[in-house]
Amino acid sequence: MTIEAIVFDFGGVFTPSPFDALRAVGEEVGATFEDALDIVFGPYDRDTDHPWHRCERGELDLETARAEIRALGSARGLEIELYDLLKYLASDDGGVRTAVVERTRRLREQGYLTGLVTNNVAEFREYWRAMLPVDELFHAVVDSSEVGLRKPDPAIYELALARLGGVAPERAVFLDDYPGNVEAARRVGMHGVVVGSDPAGALAELESLLDAATPR
Ligand SMILES: [Mg+2]
Repeated sequence: MTIEAIVFDFGGVFTPSPFDALRAVGEEVGATFEDALDIVFGPYDRDTDHPWHRCERGELDLETARAEIRALGSARGLEIELYDLLKYLASDDGGVRTAVVERTRRLREQGYLTGLVTNNVAEFREYWRAMLPVDELFHAVVDSSEVGLRKPDPAIYELALARLGGVAPERAVFLDDYPGNVEAARRVGMHGVVVGSDPAGALAELESLLDAATPR
């Protein structure tokens, strides 16, 4: 096994998990995590026409997605406000995880190709890109709202590998806080690592994968 590239998710990897924030916001209105997840983010292990998914593919503006999500909640008697979740995520400057940033920097210095694949929203672009030295850290950045594709669509992983210069999937590792996105990367042939609330475990797992790989 040879590893050439490490590809990262953004939210929940370089920042705290949006799913933890969603749990807290859901609790405030009496929603279970499952209900809050289904209303706000839709069936997240699939790529569908849920308003959030369309927003992440750049097909719907954020304000329209917010209104449609509010209507989905109201229909189930749950007054969930998307912007409350966003405010929660923006608190503490987004809480960037310096350990992950530093590890990414070192990976680049060690000669690995580094990439970012983020399911994101056009209206957030300026904000999230300002949280990391994006161009310094990554050889390739794939933002769902720019490319019209989102995880778990296999095409977005393939696009990232192509932008990294045509890396073979089995020579790449993918890290994401959402297990469904990691599963999808594995189906494409990449190695997958799930990032938990404390990223130390995932960084250790990445380390052992790289140690097990033969020198490039
Ligand atoms: Mg994430």
